[in-house]
Amino acid sequence: MTLSGGAARLIPRGMAAAAQGSLNHSADVTRRLDAAAAACERDGVRFTELRRHVLGLVLAAEGPVTAYGLLDQLRGTRWNAAPPTVYRALDFLLQQGLIHRVERLNAFIGCDEGASHTHAAQFLICNTCGAVDEVDDHAVADAVGLAAAAKGFTPAHATIEIEGTCAACAGSAAH
Ligand SMILES: [Zn+2]
Ligand SMILES: [Zn+2]
Repeated sequence: MTLSGGAARLIPRGMAAAAQGSLNHSADVTRRLDAAAAACERDGVRFTELRRHVLGLVLAAEGPVTAYGLLDQLRGTRWNAAPPTVYRALDFLLQQGLIHRVERLNAFIGCDEGASHTHAAQFLICNTCGAVDEVDDHAVADAVGLAAAAKGFTPAHATIEIEGTCAACAGSAAH
């Protein structure tokens, strides 16, 4: 994917202010935000500063982040937003396929694909370290669709969440 703006683009002032503390926007986050902006422009939807800011927080998080956690991070910034504002921003990002909701954790993570479309995804949730890994296996999504169709059921949304032990934790347990 070719990005307009590129890596030289500066972090907006509001975001830089919120970057104090644990939040540290890497070049990767900036690149993904720029890609999201380009995708929204292509789709003709508004990628407002708040939406960009919330997506930036989700992408910069170490793991899944809750709406409450986001509100906490927004507190004290100029985005001292009311919960409905944040929920609306999250809904927008979900609809655009820029983030996913991990139902099991009631939390949000950025989509690895970062594409402006929703897609069926599977999540591997580590019970030991809490890491969540996104898997986009079309064979799994197709199998779910077929199984539902066999019952005459039309699925609108399917999130598959698998709890267990990640490779890193399994490795450290073996030593
Ligand atoms: Zn995804
Ligand atoms: Zn783990």
